[in-house]
Formats: sequence, structure tokens, C-alpha cells
Amino acid sequence: MYLKSLTMRGFKSFASATTLAFEPGITCIVGPNGSGKSNVVDALAWVMGEQGAKSLRGGKMEDVIFAGTSGRPPLGRAEVSLTIDNTDGALPIEYAEVTISRTMFRNGGSEYAINGTGCRLLDVQELLSDSGIGREMHVIVGQGQLDTILHATAEDRRGFIEEAAGVLKHRKRKEKALRKLESTEGNLTRLTDLLSEIR
Ligand code: ATP
Repeated sequence: MYLKSLTMRGFKSFASATTLAFEPGITCIVGPNGSGKSNVVDALAWVMGEQGAKSLRGGKMEDVIFAGTSGRPPLGRAEVSLTIDNTDGALPIEYAEVTISRTMFRNGGSEYAINGTGCRLLDVQELLSDSGIGREMHVIVGQGQLDTILHATAEDRRGFIEEAAGVLKHRKRKEKALRKLESTEGNLTRLTDLLSEIR
């Protein structure tokens, strides 16, 4: 599995549709300060479902939409598509190539699609979680973040490893199942009370 291409349109400084094609191995993006290198990394995190405006170096979520320049008016929406080569079947989906897309409008709300079919954020997260690209995005290490990881507590470090190993997904599912069990037990108790009142 590797990232094949990334297309941005209306995302941060990328007003016009811009596609970056990646090859297997290491890719370096070079450019002058402020030219948009980090915006490419933000686009990657964003299309994979990042929900925090701060993680995307903005104040609010709409800040990812092209805000306009002296020569170009602002745009009303941001779109990013990420194509992943899945010939090794690392992603649990029967396609050799998977394209994840996210669109956001200025009046709020994001739309997601997998290979052109609309889906929920949860579907994107579930698809990626087995690949080690989980919802916490530890695979994207931003400037200055290395320090945080190196100085993390043993518990946090375990969290990073669990996420990379795909354990976190099962932990979250277990927590969800336990919560459901708890509410079912509550319902059962209420039902028993009601039954004893009726009798
Ligand atoms: P450095 O090398 O200094 O870290 P960089 O190449 O990583 O820089 P970025 O931080 O990716 O640069 O890009 C910053 C540029 O993106 C700034 O010029 C900023 O004005 C522009 N930018 C960010 N958000 C938007 C937006 N919503 N609309 C238009 N331009 C934006």
C-alpha cells in the first residue's frame, strides 16, 4: 500500500486543482517558506478525516477553504482526493486502487466519498484504521511533534504503538460494546421493575 496521488482544489493556498503524484519510496517536497509544503500535509490529514482545526493550523474548520488573494476571490468550497494503491490488499476493500475524497462548504459540513460513493466519516476511519493510519493520525508527524513523541509518557507511547498496530480500533469497539451492554442492562432493570409493578 502506498499513496499514489493527492488532488487539492480550493484547499488552503491551492485554489486551482493541483495534483501531486507520488511514487513508492520516499517523496520530498521542497519549496520556499510559505509556498504551501505544510498545506500538502494538512490536506493529507484532512482528507483522512482530521476533525481538529488546530491540527490543521487554523482557528476554525472553514480556514481550510481558499480565503482569496489580492488577485483571486475566495472560494466556497475545499476538495481533496487521495488515491491509495491497494494492490497488496492492505485496506479491507476489494479495489486495487482506493480514492478517498472530502469536500467542505463554507456554510459548514463535510462530505466524504470512497471511490466516488458517498459515505460517512466513520467509514473512512474504519477503512484506514487497519492500515495504521488511524483517526489519531500518528503517521503524520508535524514540525515540532517529534519532541512530543520522544517525551511522551509510557501510557501515551503505548497508545501510539497500539494505533499503529491496529489495536486501538478494537479497543474503541470494545468500549462501544460495553456502553451498549450497560444501557441494555439499565433497560432490563427498568423492564423488570415495570413487570413487577404490573403483576
Ligand atoms: P514553511 O517552509 O515556512 O513552513 P510552507 O511551505 O510549509 O512554509 P505553508 O505553511 O504550507 O508553507 O503555507 C502557508 C501559506 O498558505 C501562506 O502563504 C498562507 O497565506 C497560505 N494559506 C493558508 N491557508 C490559506 C487559505 N485558507 N487560503 C489561502 N491561502 C492560505
